[in-house]
Amino acid sequence: MYCPFCNADDTKVIDSRLANEGAMVRRRRECQSCGERFTTFESAELVMPYIIKQGGQREPFNENKLRAGMQRALEKRPVGTEDIEKAIIRIMKRMRASGDREIPAEQVGSWVMDELRDLDQVAYVRFASVYRSFEDVSAFEEEIEKLKLSPSPEVKRQQKSLLPEDEA
Ligand SMILES: [Zn+2]
Repeated sequence: MYCPFCNADDTKVIDSRLANEGAMVRRRRECQSCGERFTTFESAELVMPYIIKQGGQREPFNENKLRAGMQRALEKRPVGTEDIEKAIIRIMKRMRASGDREIPAEQVGSWVMDELRDLDQVAYVRFASVYRSFEDVSAFEEEIEKLKLSPSPEVKRQQKSLLPEDEA
């Protein structure tokens, strides 16, 4: 690449190492013309699909928004940050693997629910009840049914407190 100091095109890589936990390559370069040294960072460009909201609006995918939504569901639950981050990485992989340039928010939501179901049942029920805004009680009960495991007392309590709201 061109030297940012003198614009000569003869620059040489003198050192190369991984940075940012392997997500980037940091290169030290030296200009063969003026002798100045500079650093470049190289990372893969991962293009995430756009999100199509229920109203049809299109918005760029926002990883922080996804994380915030999951953290809200997982509030005060015994799930470590590392497990949440791994789940986010898996969701983003699924988004990219779909190959679509646009993904319905609903689809992303169901992938989040897949992850939460494995991480913590209470968080799963919380997220599902908010995200899906169940139209009727039967849809909600269906989700509970899908848990397959007999709900813990905590889930039962959660269920009771959520049902009247959904009925309203
Ligand atoms: Zn130079």
